[in-house]
This record gives sequence, C-alpha cells and structure tokens, in this order.
Amino acid sequence: MIDQALMQPIPDRIFRFACHKDLPCFTKCCANLNLVLTPYDVIRLKNRLNLSSEAFLEKYTTSYIDEAYGVPVVKLTMNNDKTRRCPFVSPEGCAVYEDRPGACRLYPLGRAASKIFEGHPAGEYYFVVKESHCLGFNEERDWTVQEWIINQGMDEYNAMNDSFMNITAGRQAKTIKALNDQQLQMYYMACYSLDEFRRFIFETTFLDKFDITKDVRKRIKTDETELMAFACQWLKFSLFGEKTIPISSHHRA
Ligand code: SF4
Ligand code: SF4
Repeated sequence: MIDQALMQPIPDRIFRFACHKDLPCFTKCCANLNLVLTPYDVIRLKNRLNLSSEAFLEKYTTSYIDEAYGVPVVKLTMNNDKTRRCPFVSPEGCAVYEDRPGACRLYPLGRAASKIFEGHPAGEYYFVVKESHCLGFNEERDWTVQEWIINQGMDEYNAMNDSFMNITAGRQAKTIKALNDQQLQMYYMACYSLDEFRRFIFETTFLDKFDITKDVRKRIKTDETELMAFACQWLKFSLFGEKTIPISSHHRA
C-alpha cells in the first residue's frame, strides 16, 4: 500500500518528472516495496524469465488474502536481506525492464480506486507519489498523465488489468468474502497460475462439460492473453453463477 501522506493531486493532469541513470537516487526506489502483481504482470514476468507460472510464483512471489474482499493477492517477494531490494534490480537498472510490472511503469504515479482528493472529479484517479528520495521531480520534463501512460506502455497493461478487475467489479465485498477454500484456490489458479489453468482446461473433463468452439479452444491454447480473458469468464461462471460459459448439451439437466 502507498502511504497516503505521499499521495499528491496532479493539477491540470500535468507533472514534472524524469528518471535516468545519472541521478544519485537511481534504483533506490526498487527496494522494500509492497509490489502487488496482476495476472498480466505474472504472464509477462514468467515468460521473460522462461519459467512456468508455478515456478515463477514459487520462486518470486508471496500470496495473501486481501482484507477487504477476501480474494488471493500476489506480490513480488523482495530479497530476504537487509537491503530488501527487488530481485530484478541491477546496477544498470531494471533487469526485466521491457516486462516490468504495471506498478513500476506507472511510478511515480499511482491510480486510486476511488476519489481521494477534494476538488477532483470522480474518475480523476491518478495521483503523484512524492517520496523524499526520488530526485526525478527536480528534472525539467513536463508530462501529462496520458503521455506518461503511453510512454511507459501502461495502456496495454491497463487494458489487460481491466478484464481482471472486471471479475469482482460491482460485487459486494461480503459476497466475495463468502468464497470457500476450494473457490479461493480456483481463483488463485485461474488468475495467476495460468499454465496450471491451461492444464485444467485441456487435460481434464472440462471440454466435455462445456461447449467451447474450436476457434475458442485454439485461441486459448495458443494465446495467453486469450486464456487470461477466458479465465475471467470462468471465474464469473464458477464463483458467481454468471452464464458466461455455455454448458455442453450432454451435461444440461
Ligand atoms: S528518479 Fe525516482 S524513480 Fe527514478 S531512480 Fe530515482 S528514485 Fe527511482
Ligand atoms: S521490477 Fe524492475 S522496476 Fe520494478 S521494482 Fe523491480 S527492478 Fe525496479
């Protein structure tokens, strides 16, 4: 979680910032983070590291149950030493830069789930995180929020993350908190352990039970972002009873 005292509004959606190797603070921000990963972050990182989703989750992440909604959340584990640095930081910067998580791309901006500043209209969700060690705010480069999002490749991440947010959107926290252990395990697998979820689809009786067209089967087998979108549909079906996946005629009552 970001310390609320560090959050500042962005007047006219313009802020001044630049980050580069010549700053004395270079990579100081890549330590001691509560870096929550989204399902799309996990896909990008595990592929970057050439690991299965299970191996990546085991080696680099810790999971816990979110207090408000009661669903599993995954965060990147910092090094277990005094520095508590990110496992991917190097003297040259981020070693997984092209596939760095969405939160790292957005920094020094943050995105709030609801209105947090007086005078800012609902929907104005971005704020600046002003940490004292970050010297990037003294640099003379102005950005609009939109320019920053595009410059950091965040638009692609936002689009993928929105389909995931969609699973719980509009539901009462108490409905979600009522999920049992088996449902929580399903949520974790479908959201984060995508290689395991793929086996659940293709190596069990799943395809006998549901009417999944050849075209969809092909897409979810070969394209992980399609599989991730399918996983969202599956969770809506299996956890919340939405009719997002057609049941095979052999299995209808
Ligand atoms: S300018 Fe800020 S974001 Fe860039 S390296 Fe320094 S502390 Fe990190
Ligand atoms: S993933 Fe890269 S940018 Fe993000 S904290 Fe780690 S080293 Fe820094």
